[in-house]
Amino acid sequence: LAKALVLMSGGLDSILAAKVLQEQGIEVEAVSFVTPFFTSKHAEKAAAMLDTPLHIVDITAEHMKMLKAPKHGYGRFMNPCIDCHALMIQRAGEIMKEIGADFIATGEVLGERPKSQNRQALNIVEQESGMEGYVLRPLSAKLLDPTIPEKEGLVDREKLLDIRGRSRKPQMELAKKYGITEYPSPAGGCILTDPMFSIRLRNLYRVEEEPSPKDVDLIKIGRVFLSSEGALIIVSRNEQENKELMASAEEGDMILEVEDYPGPLTIIPRNHFGKETIFEAAALTARYGKAKAAPAADVSSLVHGTEKKTVIHVDNPAEAIEIIPARGDELAKVVRKQPI
Ligand code: SF4
Repeated sequence: LAKALVLMSGGLDSILAAKVLQEQGIEVEAVSFVTPFFTSKHAEKAAAMLDTPLHIVDITAEHMKMLKAPKHGYGRFMNPCIDCHALMIQRAGEIMKEIGADFIATGEVLGERPKSQNRQALNIVEQESGMEGYVLRPLSAKLLDPTIPEKEGLVDREKLLDIRGRSRKPQMELAKKYGITEYPSPAGGCILTDPMFSIRLRNLYRVEEEPSPKDVDLIKIGRVFLSSEGALIIVSRNEQENKELMASAEEGDMILEVEDYPGPLTIIPRNHFGKETIFEAAALTARYGKAKAAPAADVSSLVHGTEKKTVIHVDNPAEAIEIIPARGDELAKVVRKQPI
């Protein structure tokens, strides 16, 4: 019996890829990769529905390293899809050997995503991953060169498909045929394709040469500003975000809170706190809370993991700083209005 390891995002294409193989009697196991940018949530659901074992593999370290300078560049936003796929296939190749599978399969559809799922991109991914000939795309296989498992007769090429392009109609019909009614929408799932998050991430990489996964978690939350010194300032918007920010704070981050008034939690990640950045962060903290209407506010700042607490006095919080709204691919900027 042939055995396949299917890259499972949990989206419809990957579910169908697994199903097409199962239908011809191939044993299927699935793998889902996790990073701060995508989770295995949908894959877990899909694997349960398909009744297939799921390997959940954290590739954060390699992914974040690659993301800094992807060899094949980014897509429209901060999504390095070709390098990301190559990394996933390479890791899948290792797991394939470990579990004794014969090949890897993916839900890729030729031409569905013009930049990352064209013939050339699919070939690059295979070459870069070192898995040439072992990557089967069941949904478009008949349009592609036969893979090794097809040539070896482990897979019946005739029972594979020839879906091409961006219309998702053939996939919908196939889903209907298999009685698959629940699957996530094709967009979403990976925040590297989110325009707002991409701007935040680009700025994080500017500030921090080696961002940590926790730095990435921080910029998923709240309002993010660029200080006049070029540092990031993150301000929560509600109680829930206060908790999330605290949970993502690392030793060395500066945490600010207004004394005596309810208000947000503000974080300056790592040790990027020049004097101006601290003042601007303090003024933002006061301005986004009840202290905005007060004549003055005291804002406490603490370097997380230390006892280093200081108090910053902000006169007239409503007027202390100016916020230049976010524009194009720039973050909102904050500058001091009052003279030092
Ligand atoms: S959308 Fe995200 S997870 Fe998917 S290949 Fe691109 S970068 Fe990777």
